[in-house]
Amino acid sequence: MTAGTERPMRWQRIPKDVQGFPVRPNLQDYETACRQFSWDDARRALSGLRGGGLNIAHEAVDRHAAGPRAHHEALRFVRADGSAHSLTYLELAGQTNRFAAVLRQLGIGRGERIFSLTGRSPELYVAVLGALKNGSVFCPLFSAFGPEPVRQRLHLGHGRALVTTRALYRKKVAQIRDSLPDLKHVFLIDADGAPEPGTLDLAGLLAAAPADSIMAPTSGEDMALLHFTSGTTGTPKGAIHVHEAVTAHYATGRFALDLHPCDTYWCTADPGWVTGTSYGVIAPLVHGVTTVVDEEEMDADRWYRILAEQRVTVWYTAPTALRMLMKAGAERAAGHDLSALRFVASVGEPLNPEVVVWGQEAFGLPVHDNWWQTETGGIMIANFAATEIRPGSMGRPLPGVEAALVARDGDGKPVVRDGDPVLVTEPDTMGELALRAGWPSMFRGYLNEEERYRRCFAGGWYLTGDVAKRDADGYYWFVGRGDDVIKSSGHLIGPFEVESSLMEHPAVAQAGVIGVPDPVAGEVVKAFVELRTGWEPSEELRLDIIGFARKRLGAAVAPRMVDFTAALPKTRSGKILRRLLKARELGLPEGDTSTVETTTEAP
Ligand code: ATP
Ligand code: MG
Repeated sequence: MTAGTERPMRWQRIPKDVQGFPVRPNLQDYETACRQFSWDDARRALSGLRGGGLNIAHEAVDRHAAGPRAHHEALRFVRADGSAHSLTYLELAGQTNRFAAVLRQLGIGRGERIFSLTGRSPELYVAVLGALKNGSVFCPLFSAFGPEPVRQRLHLGHGRALVTTRALYRKKVAQIRDSLPDLKHVFLIDADGAPEPGTLDLAGLLAAAPADSIMAPTSGEDMALLHFTSGTTGTPKGAIHVHEAVTAHYATGRFALDLHPCDTYWCTADPGWVTGTSYGVIAPLVHGVTTVVDEEEMDADRWYRILAEQRVTVWYTAPTALRMLMKAGAERAAGHDLSALRFVASVGEPLNPEVVVWGQEAFGLPVHDNWWQTETGGIMIANFAATEIRPGSMGRPLPGVEAALVARDGDGKPVVRDGDPVLVTEPDTMGELALRAGWPSMFRGYLNEEERYRRCFAGGWYLTGDVAKRDADGYYWFVGRGDDVIKSSGHLIGPFEVESSLMEHPAVAQAGVIGVPDPVAGEVVKAFVELRTGWEPSEELRLDIIGFARKRLGAAVAPRMVDFTAALPKTRSGKILRRLLKARELGLPEGDTSTVETTTEAP
């Protein structure tokens, strides 16, 4: 029996808030919410700084520390052994003040960049928010990066200080330190009173620093965060974000993640990725909820245990993690009491319909897909708690977000006439996804790449580089990244559609689909397939999968070739790297591999 069938009916599980009232979704009616919404109103729900400024850390921490939620649990860290330790909003305010004071004592000022290279430790959260209090800019790195990607990013971003661990420092930073003249200070989280030569003992410095309130009088347009993109399509770009982004973190946390003050929320994203900051730190704290932080890496049984033991109510994860849970089997969820869970959301990659359906079986709840990018800073398109889910669709634009599809020419370039993009109005027609510029968390630049930034905009629209369709009811359906769309015998084929169909085959856990050159068809579809536990590759299975896909997709769209692979190449943020599958298939240079999961060293 699966967990889903064992568990009580959904209405019985609706959690109650402190007064015992059931939790109603924040967004009740989509059209009404869109009509009534304004970014100015969302901004007014935040308190802002005295004197008119805006600082993310004030909204996330100090606002609560000075009010009735001061003693509410802000962050709950789950250790390897499953035990937990917490920080209240008041304690987090004190620690972040101390971190800001340490930066000040060292002469690190506004606009200067503080980097992190660490897992999900309390110090990471203290550093993000403390840096923002100081008016400095925070930039997280994946702790699994090798020395070269670390060096490149610290160099490009003019990193002034770095927060890391002794082991990571020894392995990845010590040897590049001399080539980074801007990097003046390295804080070791675990120096234990004996820092490495050239580093500082963070715990000692924090203990000695005053906890008095520090809040730089930042304006909404001051730079706050620097995030490097995942590098799925090429060399990662540094996206610049400002304090005003917090308005979008607040509004999207409310509508797309349905956060309520009574929630215990868990975001599984790596802290090196934009999701780890926007929705792993900022959005939940701005809402004053309790955030569960797993100090360990992904493991199916551990994850089910955390969901159950920590009584997680809202869970934000990624398709790649869900597919891994699915590969391990829904029966692993059985025996875990997931009755506290109210809302499950996913981001980062297309969410195959199969996974949405599986979620219903494993958690008794559907998974709500949502879409955004490093550049958008926050969720832009989502399936909402109270609205119908269409499995395979990313949902509809958030209130306050205007989306459109831009026609593409024969080379896949957006069609722009007299400076304005030509919009696709017919339903179910492919186009490049575009967003009306001006939402608060829109990136304000690519680091050192002004021209590239400029080229992302046309006639007041931001062009996302993703291709999608919109149905007659306004739901958006992801087709693929512009570069991944396959042209075969006059058909335009989105890899996502093919991958999702393959996943409906009982043996297939995940699939990555590319186009390979063909003298007749231009390109033909090739699939790389990872099998579910218990299945072995064989010629018979290969033919069965091809036959299965043909029945579902037709011969023109189904893959001609299927290769079995033990592990698809992925980015550190869990995205299938189709460009790498293609380069390897065609024997071409692999390009930037700094964010590839399988080739970087483990921390
Ligand atoms: P790079 O820009 O360096 O190639 P990246 O685009 O993967 O890397 P991110 O900003 O982390 O870097 O990812 C955003 C992209 O992830 C989106 O543009 C889209 O292609 C994909 N994505 C995110 N969420 C979804 C989703 N729900 N459905 C489909 N694709 C998604
Ligand atoms: Mg991108």
